[in-house]
Amino acid sequence: MESLFNTLDGLNEEIISIRRHLHKHPELSFEEVETPKYIAEFHENLGHDVKTGVGGNGVLAYLKGSHDGPTVALRADFDALPIHEETGLDFKSIHDGVMHACGHDGHTATLLGVAKALNKHKEDLHGTVVFIHQHAEELPPGGAKPMIEDGALEGVDVIFGTHLQAQMPLYEINYRTDELQASSDSFEVTIFGKGGHGAMPQDTKDSILIASQLVDNFQQIVSRRVNPLQSAVLSVCSFEAVGPYNVIANTAKIKGTVRTLNEETRELMEKEMLRVIEGTCHLSGADFEFNYDRGYPVLINHKEETEFVMNVAETIPEVRRIKETEPIMGGEDYSYYLQEVKGTYFFTGAQPENSNNPYPHHHPKFDIDEKALVIAAKILAKSTVEYMQKNK
Ligand code: MN
Repeated sequence: MESLFNTLDGLNEEIISIRRHLHKHPELSFEEVETPKYIAEFHENLGHDVKTGVGGNGVLAYLKGSHDGPTVALRADFDALPIHEETGLDFKSIHDGVMHACGHDGHTATLLGVAKALNKHKEDLHGTVVFIHQHAEELPPGGAKPMIEDGALEGVDVIFGTHLQAQMPLYEINYRTDELQASSDSFEVTIFGKGGHGAMPQDTKDSILIASQLVDNFQQIVSRRVNPLQSAVLSVCSFEAVGPYNVIANTAKIKGTVRTLNEETRELMEKEMLRVIEGTCHLSGADFEFNYDRGYPVLINHKEETEFVMNVAETIPEVRRIKETEPIMGGEDYSYYLQEVKGTYFFTGAQPENSNNPYPHHHPKFDIDEKALVIAAKILAKSTVEYMQKNK
């Protein structure tokens, strides 16, 4: 029997062609129809048990090994973004205004390659593999939570997953044994002032001025309320108050996002924001409405499982460097899986080899180096086989 790595090398071209097919046919979060169908068919052709419509548009596929043992889940997301692609690739998106600009096409192609390889090696499998093909990662509330509620993690002992990173060198793997990605919450504050003539401010409560004070006062939360040894971000990203040049606006609305790396700081941010809003509005006698929406929780890896996967990564011939990374303040709904079962999420370098200045994720010219796919596939596949061997 050929080795697992040889099997995956043999599948490399197919993995790349799957990625290109998905790239050409991207679908927005919660609107995925053809992608889950394509994934389900691929697994059905391999003879795997398949569940579709899991928690929405998610797909679960099951591969039973020849021997008994633990259940390993592998997760890949498959949604795209509302971005108009400008790469000029010959397999660029044929759907106007929709683009795989975060590499989820690559994640899915990788996982399908892993599925085919592990199927070929089921004699070596002591246990069951659950392939979690998740919809809607890009748009909170996301697909992970409803998929879990719909049974995605039933019987699962451990979960592994990776994100391709276009700004991280190819052949490099980054990991973290604890918090890797931030909680990502959104907020909206509406200030109800009292509109009036721009020439007679004394008769008004100027909602634009009050909202401006709020933007300013918010910045003191991170600098004066949060412990300097903790991390937090509060960004006001939208400010709306529309009207003619000589009318003081009746209402103003600001929107933004809050990121933290632990639950205590997250609680504190929400509490302090309310205090600042109450105080600022009290000063001017304005009313307000405050909505704070909790998005994805902090993604916290499990130490032992992370070290296990990194030990496997060291044996992948293409991998040149394995490095512990700092946390990033971007969110990821893989965090929900790690709240339920042990496991890890790591980054696979996918910077296009000939570019020193790669386009960032979510950019209209975003691209990945496809050589990263088989590397990620080898780490996920071998981690699965070895985890089962060790825990059978
Ligand atoms: Mn992503």
